[in-house]
Amino acid sequence: MLVVMKPHATQPEIDAVVEKIRSLGLASHAIPGAQRVAIGITGNRGALDPGLFDTMPGVADAIRVSNPFKLVSREVKEEDTVLDVGGVKLGGKAITVIAGPCSVESKEQVLEAAHGVKRSGATFLRGGAFKPRTSPYEFQGMGEEGLKLLALAREATGLKVVTEVMDADDLAMCAEYADVLQIGARNMQNFSLLRKVGALKKPILLKRGPSATIREFLMAAEYILSGGNYQVALCERGIRTFETMTRNTLDLNAVPVLKSLTHLPVVVDPSHGIGLRPHVPAMARAGVAAGADGLIIEVHPCPEKALSDGHQSLSIPEFAGLMEQVRIIAGAVGRPLA
Ligand code: PEP
Ligand code: MN
Repeated sequence: MLVVMKPHATQPEIDAVVEKIRSLGLASHAIPGAQRVAIGITGNRGALDPGLFDTMPGVADAIRVSNPFKLVSREVKEEDTVLDVGGVKLGGKAITVIAGPCSVESKEQVLEAAHGVKRSGATFLRGGAFKPRTSPYEFQGMGEEGLKLLALAREATGLKVVTEVMDADDLAMCAEYADVLQIGARNMQNFSLLRKVGALKKPILLKRGPSATIREFLMAAEYILSGGNYQVALCERGIRTFETMTRNTLDLNAVPVLKSLTHLPVVVDPSHGIGLRPHVPAMARAGVAAGADGLIIEVHPCPEKALSDGHQSLSIPEFAGLMEQVRIIAGAVGRPLA
């Protein structure tokens, strides 16, 4: 249920609603809006009676939320969520570009990538220190050493750092170094990890599971918001279909559908989405045209030598070329680059 307060509701009136929710053994989520405050209620097993709230002072309306996903839905919060990552924005009108290597491999590699992507207009650096690899014999990432190198690259460039946390055991460590924690596709339904990042005050980039429906994707995000962490961005990174010519099928349908259902920013990952370097730019452009709020793109100073995902990583000059195109497409849909 959503309790919508009147535009001039006083703080004591808001507090009284929150207290009533607490007295019912339920959780309240204050959702500040431009005009008025709304309070989301979660934790109820059956439908709540609007009469519990709609006669309270300062309450404009108590509305049942029909979707199974509540806090992520536009029913509960109409306005777009903008993640504020130490002053750098993700979401809203401007399009944000996150770029960098699949894996952190060395100081030289990560610094070169960071400077390279920054020059072309990226505002976030991506790089995995803990890598979810299909084979246990493949490069698994540098671990904490990699996190330290990301922090070094942040210091050198001012870029904000996005990195994946794979396991709850590493969460505290990853959160210490990262500006945004990525939950990878394979962990999208790791509900205990979702609950743990829901308890953090750290922005989260949640990637869509390769076999997850849009509804399951939104429910996974709901786990994080219901824990009190509202700073979540969603990432469409391709799903598994019968197609074998491409690594995944980038589901660009998901972009407008997500944008209509949720207020959370939507990021497109064309690198994993198609998995083929020559075609990454086309899908990046398409993602922006489809309405994405951001792109996450794998860029490596020497893709041929990359320890992971080199076949889908752009070189720094290729990325620079793509950014010129992205700027044009963004302009065509009325959006600046962040
Ligand atoms: C990655 O970003 O390098 C990655 C492993 O992504 P995904 O979880 O989408 O496969
Ligand atoms: Mn990768």
